[in-house]
Amino acid sequence: GDVVSRIAAGEVVERPAAVVKELVENSLDAGARSVTVDVQDGGLRLIRVADDGEGMSREDAPLAFERHATSKLRSDRDLWSIRTMGFRGEALPSIASVSRVRVATATGSTGVGTQFEVHAGKIGTLSDAPPVRGTSIEVADLFYNQPARKKFLKSVPTEFSHISRVMQQAALAWSTVHFRLTHNGQEVLHCPAAISDRDRIGQLFPRTFLGHSVAVEAAMPTAKLSGWAIDPVHATSSRTPQELFVNRRPVRHTGVFHAIAEGYGSFLPKGHQPLFVLFLDVDADRVDVNVHPTKREVRFSENERIHELVRRAVRQALGGPDN
Ligand code: ADP
Ligand code: MG
Repeated sequence: GDVVSRIAAGEVVERPAAVVKELVENSLDAGARSVTVDVQDGGLRLIRVADDGEGMSREDAPLAFERHATSKLRSDRDLWSIRTMGFRGEALPSIASVSRVRVATATGSTGVGTQFEVHAGKIGTLSDAPPVRGTSIEVADLFYNQPARKKFLKSVPTEFSHISRVMQQAALAWSTVHFRLTHNGQEVLHCPAAISDRDRIGQLFPRTFLGHSVAVEAAMPTAKLSGWAIDPVHATSSRTPQELFVNRRPVRHTGVFHAIAEGYGSFLPKGHQPLFVLFLDVDADRVDVNVHPTKREVRFSENERIHELVRRAVRQALGGPDN
């Protein structure tokens, strides 16, 4: 019912950036090569995510707004899909219960697409849409029926900065996909499909990052690390970028962060920050992603070994002794 939907919505949809994250993940799950996100007023007035993915049939599209109506059950088919089952098929119904949603979608294999609106969880009349393959989901007036939650939101610039970070992280994790983000009609991020992680980092961050960074590479039988870390001479008090991905998902992991800091050790002047974009790929059976699906926390069964791998890789990359 309505209450259940809105309680679940509170878990999944904390703020506009969470909506962007869920919709962009759906686009990527649908095999999109291009994802365009248009936002107005920090996402409070409007969030529109349009993709060129596989789209939904007229039968399936309304079902996507029913709780637990995921098409991805048990889908460990790619590492991107790893998340707790409890949140499977929750995103669209949760979002739709606290906003006004418009959907336009087409599979490209039929001569016509489908469009409809969902207001406070209620699906409106289905009608024809252009047959162009892909999906566009518009989320307007987020939390219009949740004044209490709306009060906890921060300013438009703050909410937008969270959205921007979500987009940056998606772009880093998916370097071969084209991403574009606009805010109130102004282009804020534009990443044409890149051919490597390095090229994508170059599209996102100032030259001073890659230009002053060293490559980090290391492997053990169950895990592999790659990425870039700033030469400590060029570190400042800035904290951008500090991005860690585990199996191509952005995560916070205090332990790994400490391992990076230990790798820098005394190379780093006091008060200066390590900057890095690191991709840690760990065998799926050695990662526990059940901590919290939206907060991006993970646990490693070989925590000590991962810590050592990261610490030594950073230290070696910076030219420190191999221990
Ligand atoms: P989940 O992603 O966990 O399956 P969601 O509520 O996010 O749950 O989405 C429900 C379903 O709607 C998906 O399983 C998928 O079948 C469909 N769907 C959502 N977004 C898209 C999209 N952009 N393109 C194609 N199908 C989509
Ligand atoms: Mg989803």
